[in-house]
Amino acid sequence: RDSARAFLRRNAFVLFTVAAVALGVVLGFSLRPYKLSVREVKYFSFPGELLMRMLQMLVLPLIISSLVTGISSLDSKASGKMGVRAVVYYMVTTFIAVFIGIVMVIIIRPGKGSRDSPAASSGNIESVQAADAFLDLIRNMFPPNLVEACFKQYKTHYKKVISSKDVIIQVNVTNPTNATINMTDLQANLTAVLQTIQETVEETIPTAGSSNGVNALGMVVFSMCFGLVIGNMKRQGQVLREFFDCLNDAIMRLVAIIIWYAPVGILFLIAGKIVEMKDLAQVGGQLGMYTVSVIVGLLIHGLFVLPLLYFLVTRKNPFAFIAGLLQALITALGTSSSSATLPITFRCLEENNHVDKRVTRFVLPVGATINMDGTALYEAVAAIFIAQVNDMDLNFGQILTISITATAASIGAAGIPQAGLVTMVIVLTSVGLPTEDITLIIAVDWFLDRLRTTTNVLGDSIGAGIVEHLSHQELQSQDVEIGNSVIEE
Ligand code: ASP
Repeated sequence: RDSARAFLRRNAFVLFTVAAVALGVVLGFSLRPYKLSVREVKYFSFPGELLMRMLQMLVLPLIISSLVTGISSLDSKASGKMGVRAVVYYMVTTFIAVFIGIVMVIIIRPGKGSRDSPAASSGNIESVQAADAFLDLIRNMFPPNLVEACFKQYKTHYKKVISSKDVIIQVNVTNPTNATINMTDLQANLTAVLQTIQETVEETIPTAGSSNGVNALGMVVFSMCFGLVIGNMKRQGQVLREFFDCLNDAIMRLVAIIIWYAPVGILFLIAGKIVEMKDLAQVGGQLGMYTVSVIVGLLIHGLFVLPLLYFLVTRKNPFAFIAGLLQALITALGTSSSSATLPITFRCLEENNHVDKRVTRFVLPVGATINMDGTALYEAVAAIFIAQVNDMDLNFGQILTISITATAASIGAAGIPQAGLVTMVIVLTSVGLPTEDITLIIAVDWFLDRLRTTTNVLGDSIGAGIVEHLSHQELQSQDVEIGNSVIEE
């Protein structure tokens, strides 16, 4: 009985979280018949919204402090080697994910047959040049203003092409006193008007359905460089190293508090989503098969490929490792955001799986920002699905282009809900597919988003395990050299 009690105590969080998911599903489905209004659903999901906000609150200081301490505590040779290993792992696994996605969608052919329903063509077609999108990715790495980077991302490539019909609507709405404006006036100044409106729109298009638009990529690059520099500052840098180490520790203590609230939040996030979701019975036909293709792909990648890779490299039981991550995976499922899940991922890896902090601090923030296997897989499936729906036969070159742009799009996607849906635009335009067909897959995106986010978090975590294993030698020699006193307190 004692051991049962010890087991319960050790796994209390995980048990609560699993119970929360089950309860959330039951509660959600039992409330559905009442057809709650949008406002009521919003009130109902409030505890979930709070969890999102608490986690997001910690992300920025967590990314900065963990990367700065992580990198400054390693000598540059060790961090260089670790960095190369991490990047190789990210690239290899992302490409495998894309490959699985492509194979699945080609075998299942969800888009075959005639179109289920025509795409709701709107005037707001997002125009994007793949080259601009790549440049934006690089731009995001070098934010000109660090404070601004904490709340803003560059997204010039999400400029919308606005039809004249939309222009009138926009003008009327944004400038009520000018409601009498007519087409003749407009045509005279069309270029100027469009320009202004495009700028307004550009500002207001969210990168995803979240308001947490941190330029994480920029903060990651800055923190890494900063950590590298103060790591080399010997005694001079000591104060800063200790400051960031202490900050990191304090943030992790906050995580330890918030984690108690996580099950409640997850319960309401899931129940709220189930209450408001559209009737799933309508998701049949092509969209249903598309959903199946993504899910099967994600399952193969998450339950077979990644564990196999972990086993091949470390010779340890991958499922024991995954069991330690359960809470992070469920949080990813509940929040659809790998960046909001980051605090929990840290905790699971460090506390349950005992991965060296020098590795997690280094590898996790980078992984949560750029390594998204699930997103890459989904982007490839979605693009090819849209091609199938449009009866477009893709040649090998185009499929190759899709795999490269899907990888880039997954790197560029922020770790926030439905970011992948926005970066899809890059993939579609690269092979000349109609971007407005994104509307075809929106109905199921909230659901697939949760699953791909879980795969993303799993990929980052297994990456940390693999990089730790491969970096054993460097970590040990560093231990001998300086002792591990700062890290272990
Ligand atoms: N929601 C995903 C994440 O946070 C990104 C995506 O939309 O694919 O990892």
